[in-house]
Amino acid sequence: MHKLVLFDLDGTLVLAGGSGKLALNAAVEKLYGKKNVCSEFSLAGCTDNANFSRAHELAAGEKAKTGDVARIAAAYLKILPVEVKKAVREKRYSKIRGVEKFIAALKKHKNVLVGLGTGNLKEGAFIKLGPSGMTGEFVCGGFGCDGYHRADVLRKAVRRAEKIAGRKISPAEVYIVGDTPLDISAGKECGYRTGVVTCGYSPRGELLRAGPELLEKDFSDMKPWLVWLGLCKDPKGARHASYMFPDCAIEHVQFGRTGVDSEQLKLLRRVKANARGKKLA
Ligand SMILES: [Mg+2]
Repeated sequence: MHKLVLFDLDGTLVLAGGSGKLALNAAVEKLYGKKNVCSEFSLAGCTDNANFSRAHELAAGEKAKTGDVARIAAAYLKILPVEVKKAVREKRYSKIRGVEKFIAALKKHKNVLVGLGTGNLKEGAFIKLGPSGMTGEFVCGGFGCDGYHRADVLRKAVRRAEKIAGRKISPAEVYIVGDTPLDISAGKECGYRTGVVTCGYSPRGELLRAGPELLEKDFSDMKPWLVWLGLCKDPKGARHASYMFPDCAIEHVQFGRTGVDSEQLKLLRRVKANARGKKLA
């Protein structure tokens, strides 16, 4: 069985010191004269195209067209390298604890593919990753330029991984690693497994309510991650990777711990019913 591990970028691999936000603010100010547009909405977990579109709506007071989004993207990508460099210089840029060792451990397994699943435009993603030295670690990726919705970005990454693997990859073989409730809901929408770190951009409570399979502070203790991935044995013999999702009978255990999120539960049931070939109303 192959496993595909898709990492989100901001808050999951690196903290880029708000450089994306600052670059978008500067791009919108340059194009529209509106200052600090990002203070009016949350960028976390959304795709760049969705954020650019929202920024245009707020700055111009009308719905964004493709050309508007492209114009903001071009200005953003010009400013982003400057902001990333500044973040490094001012020591606002850091890697998430343990992430490099974790990726190195994953790459030792020959049936594991490591990729990106990020809302950043491809060019922007590599600009942000540059100072971390991790740009060469990923065999494939889904990016913000692949769609407005995170689930589309993740599906695209899986299609690319299938080309590399030379075979179909089933949803149960895909592991999403992120830091926001949107990483979790997009992963669930596709029937993928989801694990999150709490040291990124979302409060722990919000992450718990979204019901990930795994929630850890960071990657400094690799063991829970490897158990979740089915790459190392649970000391108590539980087989986490095989019973939780998408076709498990014990969703009440998962949601009982976190409090029932009825929207997420409905979505989970729909995915499970579809996996069994049934349709729910
Ligand atoms: Mg993130």
